[in-house]
Amino acid sequence: MTRFINIHTHSTGSGSAFIEIINMGLEQPCPEHGLYSYGIHPWEIEKIDFQEEMMFSILKERLAMPNVVALGEAGLDKFHGDFERQMKVFERQIVLAENLKKPMILHAARSNNEIIALRKKHRPKQPWILHGFNGTEQDARQLISHGIYLSVGESLLHPDRKIYKALRFIDLDYIFLETDVAEIGIETVYEAAAKLLEMDLTALQTKIFSNFAALWNTGKTEPAS
Ligand SMILES: [Zn+2]
Repeated sequence: MTRFINIHTHSTGSGSAFIEIINMGLEQPCPEHGLYSYGIHPWEIEKIDFQEEMMFSILKERLAMPNVVALGEAGLDKFHGDFERQMKVFERQIVLAENLKKPMILHAARSNNEIIALRKKHRPKQPWILHGFNGTEQDARQLISHGIYLSVGESLLHPDRKIYKALRFIDLDYIFLETDVAEIGIETVYEAAAKLLEMDLTALQTKIFSNFAALWNTGKTEPAS
């Protein structure tokens, strides 16, 4: 049995994950089986027909499902649209995630400082996972020092990306792996990470599983390798 965990993907059956959190559009109803996340992405806000109240009422409905295990993607993006409005919608989602006791999966583009400031302001009990992380060792340390987890994806396949060099200096207690929108299997991301960490693949699987189990109690136990 495969032991890969894909913390963030937009498509089902991305390779051979035995646990995957599939990010759904708010208009899509939650399927009966599997684990999902729903959130209001910062890019949604710039849509001309964006209706905040309606979006929040659908989001609340989706998050009430027991197999919706995270609120996300939510966050901030300095490259897109109205940042002030993004902040407002993001903060509202922080409060919602706290009330409903769901961890958050974050999208952050040039917004690490604002994310950290909001974490200090709201002091959330729920974990936050910044997905698609591609920063330096120092960026990672700063986020981790505020209790923020990092999820890393296909950047690990590219030697010119910051995370490619930084990964082996980052505290593994705070790392998750993902495919996001990349059309690759999660096993490819694990293999790249194991190589960069000079770590046995099985040991890496065990580590990521224990990180997952610390955040989510899904009743799943780690299968034998
Ligand atoms: Zn994504």
